[in-house]
Amino acid sequence: MQYSDRMSLLGTEGAFEVLARCKQLEARGKQIIHMEIGEPDFDTPANISEAAIKAIRDGHTHYSPSAGVPEARAVVAEYLSKTRGTKVAPENVVIAPGVKPLVFNAILAIVNPGDEVIVPNPGYPAYESVVSFIGAKPVPMHLREENNFRFVVDELKALVTPKTRMVVINSPQNPTGGVLTPENLEAVYALAEEHDLWIMADEIYSRIIYDTEFASIASIPGALKRTILMDGMSKTYAMTGWRLGYAAVPKPLAEHLAKLNINVFSCNNTFIQYGLMEALTGPQNDVDKMVAKFKKRRDVIVAGLNKIDRVSCLTPLGAFYAFANITKTGRKCGELADMILNEYGVACLAGTAFGEFGEGYLRFSYANSIDNINKALALVEKALAEV
Ligand code: PLP
Repeated sequence: MQYSDRMSLLGTEGAFEVLARCKQLEARGKQIIHMEIGEPDFDTPANISEAAIKAIRDGHTHYSPSAGVPEARAVVAEYLSKTRGTKVAPENVVIAPGVKPLVFNAILAIVNPGDEVIVPNPGYPAYESVVSFIGAKPVPMHLREENNFRFVVDELKALVTPKTRMVVINSPQNPTGGVLTPENLEAVYALAEEHDLWIMADEIYSRIIYDTEFASIASIPGALKRTILMDGMSKTYAMTGWRLGYAAVPKPLAEHLAKLNINVFSCNNTFIQYGLMEALTGPQNDVDKMVAKFKKRRDVIVAGLNKIDRVSCLTPLGAFYAFANITKTGRKCGELADMILNEYGVACLAGTAFGEFGEGYLRFSYANSIDNINKALALVEKALAEV
């Protein structure tokens, strides 16, 4: 049977591929410590689950408006207005089954074949994959370790051409844990104004941040008129399997995104949006506890990685990933990641799962217990001693 040509342009996501490989190994009886997937190991807070269960009991089990339940859009608008220090109206909000479909649909709605989109590299692979899929060109913005995994402003400026349509930023960042400063955001905004570019701001880790304050490009006056501001429930509220994300966008784009929702899945799952409302308006102490735990784990894993011969790791300021530099081993990161999984039972991701500039790194998700992190560190040390 034949498939469309465009399918060869669509990438995948290393984390899900490695997860599938782990499941096969586990089915054969191998013990694996999971540090590959970007998913909090905590349960969704009970008040959120209860709100969704109540919504089912109350009969919220029917189709709902495609951009989101109106009350949920209003709650998101208020939450974003408060947390980003700006004014977001409910009609600017679109809800979707995760941030990932918003990345897909917003690129689909804005970018033409032949356009260029500047994407962080190493960076979350969906951006590059979707841009290629629609026949546009992903242009890598190199995030360098020596610059704390932030872009270099002059390098970013040099990437803009008459074909550039959009710049993607992600802070706190996957896979490096890097966090952009207000000055970085000002620079992106100034560039976008100068060249009439869209800004896709993926802020899914906005609340998982340590030792520093979160800054959003949306708080720059005027930025929202050219920004797709995205956040979601997966990471902050340990709701990965619920599939819930949201964006604040200019109204005409909200209408395009709603139309894409209609065409692809009609509407979001209705009752889970009641969970979203409870999450964003209810008590936040579970989030605070989770972030405090992540911070402890971060300190353990970063200290442990830095003790391993020929490995170094910057202290990430956000998200829950340690991006360890293994260039001194002289080995390719893909080869090392495979060896560490197959022979030592620790699943991590090769830096190249996040683009060409990820070579020389391994990403460890520290959404795991301190006990498992310590076990994994000992195994990684043993593995690297052999190369
Ligand atoms: N954006 C980034 C930077 C991510 O790391 C992830 C998940 O790993 C997502 C988006 C996708 O999140 P969601 O579960 O909301 O689709």
